[in-house]
Amino acid sequence: MERFDIAVIGTGPAGLEAAITAKVRNKTVLLLGQKTSSDKVSKAHQIQNYLGLPNVTGQDMSKAFLDHAKEMGVEITDDKVNAVYSMGDYFALQCHGGDYEAKSVILAAGMSAMKPFPGEMENLGRGVSYCATCDAALYKGRTATIVAYSPEDEEEAEFLAERAASVTYLPQYDYNGSLGGNITVVPKVKPQSIEMTDGQAVLKTDVDTYSADGIFILRAQVAPSQLVPGLTMDGNHVAVDRNMATNIAGLYACGDITGTPYQYIKAAGEGNVAALSAVSYLAELAKK
Ligand SMILES: Cc1cc2nc3c(=O)[nH]c(=O)nc-3n(C[C@H](O)[C@H](O)[C@H](O)COP(=O)(O)OP(=O)(O)OC[C@H]3O[C@@H](n4cnc5c(N)ncnc54)[C@H](O)[C@@H]3O)c2cc1C
Repeated sequence: MERFDIAVIGTGPAGLEAAITAKVRNKTVLLLGQKTSSDKVSKAHQIQNYLGLPNVTGQDMSKAFLDHAKEMGVEITDDKVNAVYSMGDYFALQCHGGDYEAKSVILAAGMSAMKPFPGEMENLGRGVSYCATCDAALYKGRTATIVAYSPEDEEEAEFLAERAASVTYLPQYDYNGSLGGNITVVPKVKPQSIEMTDGQAVLKTDVDTYSADGIFILRAQVAPSQLVPGLTMDGNHVAVDRNMATNIAGLYACGDITGTPYQYIKAAGEGNVAALSAVSYLAELAKK
């Protein structure tokens, strides 16, 4: 497996700038996120405070960012990272589409407005999971509930249903799909809380209660402390120093994930610092 110099997680301004800076410094870069950059960029109406791009629309800014990355030879791998493990002198990244390795990692995954459901964090890994494809093998002949936030999650449901006895699928978006077979789709119910009762993961919603051997919550974003075991947080944000270094050697963070103000230029600036810090770290690593 190729071991990249730097893996960047997130394709908003922080991640794109980090990847471009790393590329300028001749590092091999794995950039994971969305080919379309970030919804927080493309969906903004009018932006007035980004240097060099006055009164730009979110769509045009997104295009400018992506064109810049392309011109620099930065490629985006469309994938979602589920976990990052520090292995000492390298990191293992577990993603939906497969596994990757990198000598250093830059976390630029933004901030999610969604709060975990009551009971979610307490039961994580003990009935609650975030990746159906990763855990599908554990569900042979068992039952599962999926709380889904995007049509792309339907593929994950189908994969899980190939192994599981039955799957209950609760889309939190306008569902127009064609899931069938052993998958029961229950649209328009709002999850409220999760508890484990007699080995069953019980999901309470505003309409009914659903019990299964496990619950998968497929949000676009995973809480940083779940993404990287052992990561030190400062409230809801990743704790960093002025070099954007976290408490884990070789792991840096930048953008909204490190704290306010939530601004494009601050995110891009931190992406630049994080990449330069990762470059220095790689130089030290090479001397060992
Ligand atoms: C409507 C709106 C208007 C705004 N207007 C302004 C403005 O005018 N001026 C201004 O300065 N700021 C504005 N902001 C704030 C700005 O959008 C954010 O500060 C900025 O986008 C943060 O950049 P980021 O790169 O840190 O994170 P984001 O832009 O949120 O990007 C995070 C990226 O990480 C990806 N990601 C997340 N988790 C994973 C994972 N597990 N695996 C792989 N990829 C992952 C996401 O898909 C996304 O691509 C606005 C925000 C909104 C919502």
